[in-house]
Amino acid sequence: MLDICLLGTGGMMPLPYRWLTSMMARCRGSNLLIDCGEGTQVALKEKGWSPKPIDVICFTHYHADHISGLPGLLLTMGNAERVEPLTLVGPKGLERVVSALRTIAPELPFELKFVELTENREHMELGPYVIDAYRVNHNVICYGYSISIPRTGRFDVERAKAEAIPQKFWSRLQKGEEMEHEGRLLTPGMVLGPDRRGLKVTYCTDTRPVPVIAEYAAGADLFICEGMYGEKDKAAKAKEYKHMTFYEAAYLAREAQPAQMWLTHYSPSLTRPEEYMDEVRSIFPRAKAARDGWTMELEFDED
Ligand SMILES: [Zn+2]
Ligand SMILES: [Zn+2]
Repeated sequence: MLDICLLGTGGMMPLPYRWLTSMMARCRGSNLLIDCGEGTQVALKEKGWSPKPIDVICFTHYHADHISGLPGLLLTMGNAERVEPLTLVGPKGLERVVSALRTIAPELPFELKFVELTENREHMELGPYVIDAYRVNHNVICYGYSISIPRTGRFDVERAKAEAIPQKFWSRLQKGEEMEHEGRLLTPGMVLGPDRRGLKVTYCTDTRPVPVIAEYAAGADLFICEGMYGEKDKAAKAKEYKHMTFYEAAYLAREAQPAQMWLTHYSPSLTRPEEYMDEVRSIFPRAKAARDGWTMELEFDED
């Protein structure tokens, strides 16, 4: 239903065994990517997931480790003969930054659409994805994202009958279609019960631990969160460069109570993130030090 892959777990620069942090989601034939640093397309290739169906790329911010892989990825998508438009979402300046990168990828067989974030919180729907962007606190403008797949209510026969909707329209309405019948607009809302619990993944990197992160990660199926440093003596450095320690991330997770948290965006100097996890799990037990290529397949609850 919603497949998630954390393509890389590195911060600042790619390493031979660790690609830069980025996440790909797949749902109903439409892919969404968050961030695209140097080497992201190699990580994608390693995973065996195709770049061609990427319909949306969200950027957290414009530091090179989060966007420098874009021109190469665009070229690959063009070589795969993609023709459908691609939507790019990111902080103010998106079109200017991408245009500059496009000087080395000028001709593409598909159109680029730009969605520039200007408010502290923004909400949009693109294909199967409901995207919530929220401003975090880094040394440049930076956003976190919640990616959700909503789930409609159960089909309610009694309501459909009460609304006098002919049975031949029921299944189309249930699938979300609207239609006109004898001068009357029929909508899915006329035959469906209340919305059911959907799926949600919340992603944030490159920020200090601000309360808005826990707010968006609340109840998420998966919370992917920056943990730049595990070493206790790096707490001041995290503050100075506007990053997070493992423990700060864990406190956010404790507040938000997601089903699981994966740490990512490790400092290149941090070679063994697992070493710090006992203490992290004493703060939030469902925390894991993610590795490149980890995937999670999320399904709607059975009911
Ligand atoms: Zn970064
Ligand atoms: Zn950054």
